[in-house]
Amino acid sequence: MNILVINCGSSSLKYQLINSDTEDVLAKGLCERIGIDGSLLTHKTSDGEKIKIENPMPNHTVAIKLVIDALTDANYGVIKSLEEINAVGHRVVHGGERFASSVIIDDEVMKAIEECNDLAPLHNPANLIGINACKEIMPNVPMVAVFDTAFHQTMPEKAYLYGLPYEYYEKYKVRRYGFHGTSHDYVSQRAAAMLNKKREDLKIIVCHLGNGASVSAVDHGKCVDTSMGLTPLEGLIMGTRSGDMDPAICEFICQKEGITPAEMNNILNKKSGVYGMSGISSDFRDVEDGAAKGQPRAVAAMDAFYYRAAKYVGSYVAAMNGVDVIAFTAGVGENSKEGRDEICKYLGYLGTEIDAEKNNVRGEERIVSKEGSKVTLMAIPTNEELAIARQTLELVK
Ligand code: ADP
Repeated sequence: MNILVINCGSSSLKYQLINSDTEDVLAKGLCERIGIDGSLLTHKTSDGEKIKIENPMPNHTVAIKLVIDALTDANYGVIKSLEEINAVGHRVVHGGERFASSVIIDDEVMKAIEECNDLAPLHNPANLIGINACKEIMPNVPMVAVFDTAFHQTMPEKAYLYGLPYEYYEKYKVRRYGFHGTSHDYVSQRAAAMLNKKREDLKIIVCHLGNGASVSAVDHGKCVDTSMGLTPLEGLIMGTRSGDMDPAICEFICQKEGITPAEMNNILNKKSGVYGMSGISSDFRDVEDGAAKGQPRAVAAMDAFYYRAAKYVGSYVAAMNGVDVIAFTAGVGENSKEGRDEICKYLGYLGTEIDAEKNNVRGEERIVSKEGSKVTLMAIPTNEELAIARQTLELVK
């Protein structure tokens, strides 16, 4: 079966065509600048050929049409026709309290996703546009929604309630939801598989450290806590997001700078994190390089990033009353030996022992702790697209 995985943003659309029997990626790509001048589709085939297609994409329906054209192209295409796409899996950012797992998309599901728009105003409307565009072009192909929040729906009340008047939860559903759920789910499953154990028998902490970053506590197969909240702003210091801070800072800065809460929100999401702290870049490699050259603000930003991540790990050891595995994933977690090393320096009290040689790895699944380490440390590349394809297959087969 061929499954098209779609991750749709407001002006972008990422896709992968996956053969679910072999789990091979047949082709993948990215449409950029949808709805604005200079639209570009970059299509990559499985043998690494990269095709750039410059074509106006006034909307997502046109973008999807171009993707289908690329997939079925006589020269570099990987399927003969649209009929060879058997199902579509859509990444949907917010499923609110309604969705604790993936679902087949029907009219009622569309309505329920729309009802979550308030909770993710930048993401859910774009996800819906992507679904509608696919429905228009492939009306008879089954489609599945896979939610970023679903895996975290098992969090207990004590983990998801804020210390706010309860009426805000009742009236507006203001609570902690968590994100990157597909990644936390996939990586914790891989971690158990790497030990030849069942996830239900383990306490696992997953550190998803990319531009967006979050940590989760997976206790015997269920997520019991995660660092992101109502929105993906809470928790770790990220590429451009502040993570946790004293909420009173918002009013303080708004008054001092004469800016609105919406402007402040934008600063917290786009101008903060290691970017705002270092003044160098939102790209962790650049900030790491700056730190290595001894630039004081880059050093401070990276130190704060690692320290915050280690504190979250510590708090989740408390939440689960123990930990068997700490798994590192996403851009920094998968690739940066320094990153894993710096965070693990805080965790010696748990009996963790990182193995410098094994830890010298990039983008590969590997146990990076020493043989006798009390906690197993792992580097595990995440694969959200494959996880979406697997869940789609599960529901449509
Ligand atoms: P997102 O999906 O949130 O955009 P990714 O998981 O792709 O993020 O991670 C991107 C980040 O990972 C970038 O900031 C990049 O600098 C960082 N990264 C990639 N490779 C390395 C590396 N070897 N060392 C440090 N950081 C890295």
